[in-house]
Amino acid sequence: MCLGRVCACVLLLSSCQWQEPWHDVQETRFLLGTLVSFTVYSNDEEKALAAIQQASAIMQSVEQSFTSFTDVDNSVQRFNHALAGEVITLTADVDGLLRQSLQIQQQSLGAFDPVLGALNQAWAFSEAKNQQKPLSADLIEQALNVSGVLQLQAVSGMKWTKNKNQTQLDFGAIAKGFAIDQGIQSLQTSGIEHAIINAGGDLRILGNHGDKAWKVAVRHPRLKQPLGWFDIEDDSSVVTSGDYERFFVYESKRYHHILNPKTGQPADKNMSVTVLTASATLADAWSTALFVLDVETGLKMVENMPDLEALWVDKHQVLHLSSGMKKMFFPSKAH
Ligand code: ADP
Ligand code: MG
Repeated sequence: MCLGRVCACVLLLSSCQWQEPWHDVQETRFLLGTLVSFTVYSNDEEKALAAIQQASAIMQSVEQSFTSFTDVDNSVQRFNHALAGEVITLTADVDGLLRQSLQIQQQSLGAFDPVLGALNQAWAFSEAKNQQKPLSADLIEQALNVSGVLQLQAVSGMKWTKNKNQTQLDFGAIAKGFAIDQGIQSLQTSGIEHAIINAGGDLRILGNHGDKAWKVAVRHPRLKQPLGWFDIEDDSSVVTSGDYERFFVYESKRYHHILNPKTGQPADKNMSVTVLTASATLADAWSTALFVLDVETGLKMVENMPDLEALWVDKHQVLHLSSGMKKMFFPSKAH
């Protein structure tokens, strides 16, 4: 009898030890040119860590497929280095994201353009140079002449060609979102139900945070305190494009890395745009597109997309919210 009771206690103790409490398992990696933090809300730390490892490897492989900066041999670089008329076969990922980008280019009336590589390179915001000067009108014109979706020709299947030697693809405004989506999908495949992948402020959420929603702060484009926050759960992404990420100031004017494809100049309608929608790919692309457009034009587009909401801080630092956003966003007291 007595022995039986001891056994029951031991069993109870060991089962208690197995019951890991629900908690945040966190890891940070340098990926996609930024710090990416993975948070998995789990009661199995070992499983969560293995899932994060797998997701981060997948995100790294997305980065390798799309990067046009380093000397990686990927299909984007093969296309960018090809001569006019040469037929290049893109990989399935790149072909798929290019087709999605071309659709958004049309929907955004050309504000988002995945064929701006030559123009982006001419401005060189990616190379951290001091004393940078704005690009001359001549150089802007030269770059615009070889940029834009009209320079691109679909041949068949995943084969593409271009009209000018210098024409280049650039997925800088969408690939980070795509990588986040792939990372979340990988976590789900590993059996994770509650997580957040945050790539330098651009993030996607899976599930919830226990009995609470995840709280997401939105950065103010000029001030240190947040602009406000969202309470969100389930499959949602929040992505911001701002003029404070990569910029230089020349003769008191700010020049930054989001370009207006029509003028070749940094877009000058907004300081930041935040998009909330399920897909991080779409949130990334649309935050860039809406950043280029004026609020009125962008707002009309957003109101026609039922599952996408946005908030703008325009060039006068005035906050604008789409109708759905008004129900989810809590501005900080200062605004
Ligand atoms: P971030 O890279 O800071 O997250 P974005 O998602 O807005 O910001 O992407 C900006 C990058 O996208 C630029 O560095 C450049 O590579 C590319 N880009 C710039 N202007 C445009 C545009 N109008 N359409 C598509 N891509 C753009
Ligand atoms: Mg973007």
